[in-house]
Amino acid sequence: MTKIMMSNSSKTGNHVSATMCKYVIWSPIWGLGNRMISIASTFLYAVLTGRVLLVKFEPDMHGLFCEPFQETTWILPKNSPIWNYENVETYKSVLAKVDKARNLTMDKLLLPSVLFINLLYLRGYPERYFHCDVNQEALKKVDVLIVQSGHYFVPSLFMTPSFSLELNKMFPEKNAVFHHVGRYLFHPSNEVWGQITRFYDAYLAKADERIGLQVRVFKATPKQSVMDLLLSCVIRNKILPEIDTRNSASNAKNTNHILKAVLVTSLYPEFAENLRTMYFRGATITREVIGVYQPSHEEEQKMNNNVHNIKALVDMYLLSLCDVLVTTSASTFGYVAHGFRGLKPWLLSNPTSNNETDFPACVRDFSPEPCFHFAPQYQCNGIRKQHFGASFPNIFECNDYNGLKLG
Ligand code: GDP
Repeated sequence: MTKIMMSNSSKTGNHVSATMCKYVIWSPIWGLGNRMISIASTFLYAVLTGRVLLVKFEPDMHGLFCEPFQETTWILPKNSPIWNYENVETYKSVLAKVDKARNLTMDKLLLPSVLFINLLYLRGYPERYFHCDVNQEALKKVDVLIVQSGHYFVPSLFMTPSFSLELNKMFPEKNAVFHHVGRYLFHPSNEVWGQITRFYDAYLAKADERIGLQVRVFKATPKQSVMDLLLSCVIRNKILPEIDTRNSASNAKNTNHILKAVLVTSLYPEFAENLRTMYFRGATITREVIGVYQPSHEEEQKMNNNVHNIKALVDMYLLSLCDVLVTTSASTFGYVAHGFRGLKPWLLSNPTSNNETDFPACVRDFSPEPCFHFAPQYQCNGIRKQHFGASFPNIFECNDYNGLKLG
């Protein structure tokens, strides 16, 4: 493996010998939002444990970001012997050798120098005890940890007693962890930055207020149901004005001169088109003027495509330049946008499958932090505890998904 000196290690983390660095290697899974929140989590873990962070970027991540650390690289070289890690021992297999029944702790085990950890928090996987101190102590002996995760597992680091003291000093504001870590790590490349600034200057800069609407359609939800929810959310909460149906457009004078720019990001063009048509056909009751803009509409999530990922990053970043954000519940794409911005979003509900109508179209969230989906529900002694995370300060149940978040 290339020798890369440690550029970001905590002085209070593990002892790292002067000659041999210890590494944590992030390995990708799922879409860009998942990737960014899990890279941020892995970076924080690297800082806390005195490891060098390297990221395994396939060609689909090329051209998105600048190198975050000066005079070194965070890219795992393609010719590294652990680029393909199929034969590397796994956390699960190591534990299975000794503790088939409980799979809890690895403290008395002989650990390999390279270990793969699946941090997807799947049911039945022993990694759900990853955050326990006894396991963290044992993992200090491993030189190279390969972590595959698409989650924002930062809240679980706050649950680890040996990390929490340091974390509390690092982040006096617990609702701004991703805001700081994300902005520190993710610098858009020149190409991405060019697209962001050109779009911003052309459509958003001159507005009095910028409203970002991130519309993610999960499963096969009818688009009309999502549109209805979106309208109900923005009108009821006075994020956008109603159309004046009593005065015809011709005699309704624009005496207000307030310009609101609406940035819509979505895989689909319909939501922005509907809004644009609505505000074109009728004047608003507040006499505000509404412009609606959408940078791209890719129609579908494309795998192994860096041009597609660049468009996603441009969208996320532009959203983070807005003054008000409506993001879709459970979408990590939205999490990156409001986390970057450090703004509590309005969380757009997902339409229910049973035609239920008696629920709010959106709720104002309590924190800009991403939600940790499937956060640990077990104490380190293996006993399941309802709302386990809520027994820690500053960790709360998410509004939009089964999980926990900092606030
Ligand atoms: P999540 O699935 O909503 O949690 O977000 P991810 O970012 O992890 O995965 C969704 C992927 O679909 C994104 O990374 C994009 O590739 C694509 N995508 C979804 N919504 C949008 C959008 O509004 N704009 C663009 N450009 N791509 C999107």
